[in-house]
Amino acid sequence: MEVIHVSAECYPVAKAGGLGDVVGALPKYQCKAGQVAKVVMPMYRTKFLVNNEWVIDFKGKANSGSYFFDYTIIKEKTNKLGVDLYLVDIYGLLDREGIYGYDDDAQRFLAFQIAVINWINQWEHTPDIIHCHDHHTALIPFMLKNCFDFRRLSNIRTVLTIHNAQYQGWMQWKQMDWLPAWDSWKWGDLDWNGALNPLASGIKCAWRVTTVSQSYMDELRYNSNGLEALFEYEKGKCVGILNGIDNEVWNPETDEFIAHQFKTTTVVTGKKKNKQILCDEFELDVNVPLLIFIGRLVGEKAADILPDTIRSVLWALKEKAAFLILGSGDPAVEKELKSMNGNYPGYYHAVIGYNETLSHKMYAGADFLLMPSRVEPCGLNQMYALRYGTVPMVRSTGGLQDTVVDMGDWEGFGIRFNNASVADIHYSVGRAINVYNDKTHFNWMRKYMMKIDHSWERTVTDYTNVYTSLL
Ligand code: ADP
Repeated sequence: MEVIHVSAECYPVAKAGGLGDVVGALPKYQCKAGQVAKVVMPMYRTKFLVNNEWVIDFKGKANSGSYFFDYTIIKEKTNKLGVDLYLVDIYGLLDREGIYGYDDDAQRFLAFQIAVINWINQWEHTPDIIHCHDHHTALIPFMLKNCFDFRRLSNIRTVLTIHNAQYQGWMQWKQMDWLPAWDSWKWGDLDWNGALNPLASGIKCAWRVTTVSQSYMDELRYNSNGLEALFEYEKGKCVGILNGIDNEVWNPETDEFIAHQFKTTTVVTGKKKNKQILCDEFELDVNVPLLIFIGRLVGEKAADILPDTIRSVLWALKEKAAFLILGSGDPAVEKELKSMNGNYPGYYHAVIGYNETLSHKMYAGADFLLMPSRVEPCGLNQMYALRYGTVPMVRSTGGLQDTVVDMGDWEGFGIRFNNASVADIHYSVGRAINVYNDKTHFNWMRKYMMKIDHSWERTVTDYTNVYTSLL
């Protein structure tokens, strides 16, 4: 079976969040399971591009409405990711350092999608499955069905995985001219509430829709940023499949980013040494529980309540817990978290920015990982934390409730709370301090959680079942 993953991110080529991790791992494990999986993504100007060898695979011409452009497809030479990796270069649109955040993102990703299907249209054979990820690639199912130039591909089965339904790639109707000539009777496949909505179009036109956890799938029918009715209507073709984690990248026994590798039997000493290094680096008290937050500083992650929560906890529970934050996002939150540096010497530090190495060190050295997310489709951080013996403290939502069992329940190993509020987190920090001081219970939880299997090997079968049901 040949599966083509089309995505805006793929670790380690370019990553902004969980989407990159998933596309960097799922295809690799599909190949290990005997399938032919390939990844196609834009050719951003990242370090990975410069540090690896490439060969030109194809040069073509396409058009986005009246905008005619040349594109080049290059292929990585050494199979470094364990899959065939193709990058699409479009001069003036994709040749940028960043992934997102440009004014012309809609045009960039549309041109990328058009180039990908234009390229596949030149192949002698057709792939079995085109697997699209999030709104940046969600117009492909529509274009395969309804664009005259791609009629030959209209029978290819398409799967759309929704990693985050908050972002839908809304476009104005006048931008419909950017699509290659299409059957205008089918305008309803593009429309949602009077706008051209790529994610909604993907949900309508893909043969199957998956989301990254079962609870998130259920949640989308009553909370999906305006698409609730659509998810309800299309529920028959929607499936929730919990993400896995790449155990080769996220393995405390072999992780080269951390100073002291450890495994289940050495978790106590291993984490102690890593914590010492982390605390020395950021001048934090090593004798109290270390709570970390890693992630995008946005409302979805409830990052806006972090400053008040930390102030409240550090005022009431003086010198009983320390916080280390790593993140970037909303400038106002970044500014406030940064401005608190120095106010609580030994008990608080925030690093603003994106730092893959530091994130590994933090999972390895911390005692607790805080995730108060308002929306969390799956969440990978808590699964990495489990693997590194760091107790997750999570709000009961989406994938967090599918992966964390509260320590008050049978064989529980984490801390769960219901509201993204200062009060709930404050109370949970109290519970964290109590269990931290009960070393027998705390160390049992660490060892237990490290053994939980969230590997992709398990999850790949669920995707295979989705594909085979379509063929
Ligand atoms: P989302 O995709 O919504 O951002 P996930 O929990 O699915 O959230 O995935 C987040 C991924 O991004 C994890 O691998 C996490 O370690 C990483 N990450 C997020 N912010 C940062 C940061 N500032 N520095 C390093 N890694 C980060």
